Amino acid sequence: MRAVIAYHEKFKQYDLGPGHPYRGDRFVNAMRLFREKGLFERPGVMLVEPKPATKEDLLTVHDEDYVKLIFRLSERGIPYDWETPCSPSILEAALLIIGGSLTACELIHAGEAERGVAVGGGFHHAGRNYGGGFCLFNDVAILVERLRRHGAKRVMVIDHDVHAGNGTSDIYYRDPNVLYVGFHQDPATLYPGVGFIPEIGDGEGEGYNVNVPLPPGTDDDSYLYALSEVVPPLAEEFKPDFIVSNGGSDPHFADALGSLQITARGFHKITRLIAQTAERVCHGRYILLPGSGYNPDVLPISWYALIAGALGLSDVDIKDSLPPPPTRPDVRKRVKAVVDEVKRTLKPYWRCFQ
Ligand SMILES: [Zn+2]
Repeated sequence: MRAVIAYHEKFKQYDLGPGHPYRGDRFVNAMRLFREKGLFERPGVMLVEPKPATKEDLLTVHDEDYVKLIFRLSERGIPYDWETPCSPSILEAALLIIGGSLTACELIHAGEAERGVAVGGGFHHAGRNYGGGFCLFNDVAILVERLRRHGAKRVMVIDHDVHAGNGTSDIYYRDPNVLYVGFHQDPATLYPGVGFIPEIGDGEGEGYNVNVPLPPGTDDDSYLYALSEVVPPLAEEFKPDFIVSNGGSDPHFADALGSLQITARGFHKITRLIAQTAERVCHGRYILLPGSGYNPDVLPISWYALIAGALGLSDVDIKDSLPPPPTRPDVRKRVKAVVDEVKRTLKPYWRCFQ
């Protein structure tokens, strides 16, 4: 298995300022751990420096007026909203991070790798004409559009961030060729407040938007139960040409923004299961975009775990520095009830759930 990992030193300019949970040192700290772990010495692993995405790349997803607005705000250093600042250096970093996923896509398309990792990616709260939640442009969708330009007819997007991917889901809500599957903390308890089971897509896209809202306290075992009940069967029936997944370390038990209880080892199992699914359904073609995470102590090991799982590495040393909290007694039952409800709701559209 050959893999490309895209990273640029300037990613650290995506720093939303002192006191903001999204700081630029995440990239530097994560890369330091990756190097210590010998990630780039693994056979078949290529570290590449991306070129920035262009305005044309942004326009494959976003409205022209919205792109112009973000460029204008960035030039003047005016925030998009109270938690999503803009500046020339943030914009430069955003374009490089998007460029990371496009570079991975190009190398896979050229036959130089099967697997890709775009470090820092996954700005899933940005829609066609809006940003928010620290996100300016939706790199997940920009990647999907590039994959389609290279001939992918069906793309499966698996979102394993703790927050629902409202931007990505919105962009593809009426599209039957992009299957969006989100595993996130119950949006009744967390930003962005959408991503419930009945949101199944619309028009031709009805049945192609799958939300699995997990109760606070969901731990590794229950999460992996939900993932394995939903992702492999859907992937086998949908037969994507490519799988994209996004999400960083914010589902970790020590991350203050969410209330899921995933461990670093859990992250490894999540992306390994996705990678194994990709092996079975789309010749292993899979790009991971790990970017979120708001506890700097657990972010590097969690991102490492996600990447190692996506690359199919099993001989890895992954340990949390803190013990995980105790399992909540009713959590497995509640997760099973969510999965049953997802299957009942999607049954009319998917044979695998009948
Ligand atoms: Zn998040």
